Amino acid sequence: MKQLHARYPFLQAAREAVETADVDFASVVRREDAVVDRAFDRVEAALDGGAVGDPHRRTRVELLSYPVARVLVSLVDEHVLTRKYARAEARTAHDRFSAERADSGLKSSSREPLTLGTLLAEFDLSASVRETQEGYAVEVGTYLDLAAGLRDDEWRLVHRSLRSGEVPVSESELLVLVREAVRKRVVDGLPLSVPDPIAEELSAEAERLRERLADLDLTHDIDTVVPDLFPPCMAALLDQVQRGAHLEHHSRFAIASFLTSIGMSTDEIVDLFQVNPGFGEEATRYQVDHIRGDTSATEYTPPACATMQSYGDCVNMDDRCETISHPLSYYGDALEDADEDELVDWRETDTSES
Ligand code: SF4
Repeated sequence: MKQLHARYPFLQAAREAVETADVDFASVVRREDAVVDRAFDRVEAALDGGAVGDPHRRTRVELLSYPVARVLVSLVDEHVLTRKYARAEARTAHDRFSAERADSGLKSSSREPLTLGTLLAEFDLSASVRETQEGYAVEVGTYLDLAAGLRDDEWRLVHRSLRSGEVPVSESELLVLVREAVRKRVVDGLPLSVPDPIAEELSAEAERLRERLADLDLTHDIDTVVPDLFPPCMAALLDQVQRGAHLEHHSRFAIASFLTSIGMSTDEIVDLFQVNPGFGEEATRYQVDHIRGDTSATEYTPPACATMQSYGDCVNMDDRCETISHPLSYYGDALEDADEDELVDWRETDTSES
């Protein structure tokens, strides 16, 4: 087992090193407390600080703690933990690689280096990324795939230049895209199916993580209005409403029922819609009250993804869409995954008072 594998345990070579060593994980979790402790630290640090903590000084412990941490995350099996853990592993790899790359030009190191070329090859990106005079160019399909989980507007294709089917990026941007590839690999296959003897050995650690999760209260009430976290379909419909576009009845019903379902009052929805001076306030009030059940016998819920798709209202699908079957599930998961500083309720901003 090499130090390189311990530093980047998601590499295929690291996995093969563990397989070659013929590690018996039931025995590891029973006898090697240092591995279990470090695995627990990895996950706990992911919850606390967004990275996976300081590496253990022993290569074997550090490397084996990665698969054991994945087992712990699988035993807890909470979506928010899985997301935070994968993000933390990816962020740690990104920070480590960036630091090593910066250092490599300044001083010699006894460490076996991980080159950018090796990293790109690891994720089958060699053919879709090429170096240019200004930085790098990423084939557009690959770019869209990797940037899909990045929320900042700067990553949206409309804000990028596109040249001959390629998106130019700087080196630091390329490393963020590779970080996304790492995150996807870490999350891939989770939750694992854990054999009973291993689950029993790790039951105390899994329980402690469940308690940490409960303490942190990372599950947010869906009664929070953060338009930036809306599913793509609802963001697109809201955008159309606010631009004054004419919406078919099913589309108008979808956005209005979504907004009522996340706890918005009729007045708040009218406020949100009336950015467009041409909108019909009375019609909106009537429709929203009807959906809410105030003027009808039924309280309506928004359509599921399958219905949205059949009406052509499902647009701009992203990675999260692959994991849910209802726009409300999308939004609930997005709220859970968001950092605290992203969770500013639209109703608490000045815009809602203007
Ligand atoms: S998959 Fe569902 S949540 Fe995603 S855009 Fe389509 S309808 Fe909306």
